[in-house]
Amino acid sequence: MSAILEVVDLTKHYPAGGNWFGPRRVVHALDGVSFTLAPGETLAVVGESGCGKSTLARCLMRLVDSTSGSVLLGGMEIASGDQLRMRALRRQMQIVFQDPYASLNPRRTVFQLLSEPLRLHQVCARHERRAKAAELLAAVGLRADFLDRYPYELSGGQRQRVAIARALALHPRVIICDEPVSGLDVSVQAQVINLLRRLQGDEGMSYIFISHDLGLVLRIAHRVAVMYLGQIVELGDAKALTRRVMHPYSQALFSATPVADPSAAAGRRRIVLSGDLPSPIDLPAGCRFHMRCPYRQDICVQRKPELNEVEGRLVRCHFAGEPGFPPAAGPNGHATTTHSTATDSAAARDVRATVA
Ligand code: SF4
Repeated sequence: MSAILEVVDLTKHYPAGGNWFGPRRVVHALDGVSFTLAPGETLAVVGESGCGKSTLARCLMRLVDSTSGSVLLGGMEIASGDQLRMRALRRQMQIVFQDPYASLNPRRTVFQLLSEPLRLHQVCARHERRAKAAELLAAVGLRADFLDRYPYELSGGQRQRVAIARALALHPRVIICDEPVSGLDVSVQAQVINLLRRLQGDEGMSYIFISHDLGLVLRIAHRVAVMYLGQIVELGDAKALTRRVMHPYSQALFSATPVADPSAAAGRRRIVLSGDLPSPIDLPAGCRFHMRCPYRQDICVQRKPELNEVEGRLVRCHFAGEPGFPPAAGPNGHATTTHSTATDSAAARDVRATVA
């Protein structure tokens, strides 16, 4: 089946200060990201803070312009081109943000929020908008009497449902979900995830699901892309990744994911990565992960690994696919059960204001 979305070599660099006499400094927020998304597919994008997940979402939506690369939506280029053309294409791709309270105008009622895209894109006649808005609310499990409420009168879960209903108003083919449930209680998270799954079944839309919660994405994603310092380091089938990871960074991330099966959990050890995420302004030579990789060799410092296909998935590591790599038990002296790898490094925090 042909892809609904095709992203080729997408790059986003931000200037990062400097002065007239010094070298130009650049934040490498995204570097050469490529993937495809099939109709009805959920592709999860995971990685720690500062890896470029949210920049990717913003570049795909043209909320920020990419530095280079191509984004084809239904075969049409959307990474470049004027805003008029983009407006037509925007009907086909919508975004749901992490914080629905920030993304919904607090001065507007739910009806006004839902009728805005209907009006802007002339989806239906004016007298039909209220019925259409009620229909959208019904699709996300809310009653029509919510139409006259303001966002502050709704719970967090209800607000996120309204945000999803608003995204659905134009019948998009792709929805980008940028950490859509991370601000919600666990029980509400489950409701929203079930809703997204049901809508996918009913409408056949595709999702790009951005999250730092691997346990969550493994339950809903068909494929998973693991990002590190602006690049994809592993991309493959979600079920295959739960059985075996091929990149040492994916191994560390997955080792911190809770498993429901106690027998499987007994044999698992968490891997703690040494050091912080390097600054995307001063990228390490060779493999970007080498400063924290417990398996690094001389070649890792000298040569950049390419994203190569290995056993049906894409992996960016010189040793991917070699028998027994990475070792299932983790690196000696690096395994523990007390820490998470989802560190929020100082470098990541420094640049988040720029790249997020
Ligand atoms: Fe680690 Fe080397 Fe592979 Fe990079 S290329 S992930 S440093 S083993």
